[in-house]
Amino acid sequence: MKNQVTVIEHPLVQHKLTLIRQKKTSTAIFRQLFKEIGMLLAYEVTRDLPLKYEKIETPVATMKAPILASEKKMVIVSIMRAGQGLLDGILELIPSASVGHIGLYRDPTSLLTIEYYFKLPHDMDQRDVLIVDPMLATGNSAIAAVDRLKEVSPKSIKFLCLLAVPEGIQHFHEQHPDVPIYTAAIDEHLDEYGYIIPGLGDAGDRLYGTQ
Ligand code: URA
Repeated sequence: MKNQVTVIEHPLVQHKLTLIRQKKTSTAIFRQLFKEIGMLLAYEVTRDLPLKYEKIETPVATMKAPILASEKKMVIVSIMRAGQGLLDGILELIPSASVGHIGLYRDPTSLLTIEYYFKLPHDMDQRDVLIVDPMLATGNSAIAAVDRLKEVSPKSIKFLCLLAVPEGIQHFHEQHPDVPIYTAAIDEHLDEYGYIIPGLGDAGDRLYGTQ
């Protein structure tokens, strides 16, 4: 499982990603698409969730039926603020998941990561964690988030984004080879300002109309 990167190539994901990328897409549509794509990505990322079997009664018979074994223990950790855009869709699909928040921003000059908020549920050592941040660019935020998460020793960690670049993936996996990455696309490269090219611009600004 080391250095694992999964590109989620589902046609609905790719179609919505193309709409999201376009600069003519309005804030309202951008936000709606983020939510929809968050749902679809969550569907793919949770393929390996363990099931248990419980005896149930249908109107005509009893049976042993599969049910999620771990849903309540799962934690979605959103890297603010752009992670919120994917989080909303993920929670539609996994409503009983707990949520953690990590507030990080990128210093525009140094591109280094500064933490301004950190809040997680209890009992993290019994939980599977899905960290969400739409853009895996330099990798600094993702690395900082996983550094902090590993301090509380969760059962497992996955990292979910919408777009990644090869240099960000490499940087991330140099630090955290044990954390698999799920992304909808791997773009070409970063520009000198740390933006993903061709990318979609600043995800937070486009989600919240703060451009
Ligand atoms: N963060 C963004 O919002 N966009 C990028 O292109 C890179 C990092």
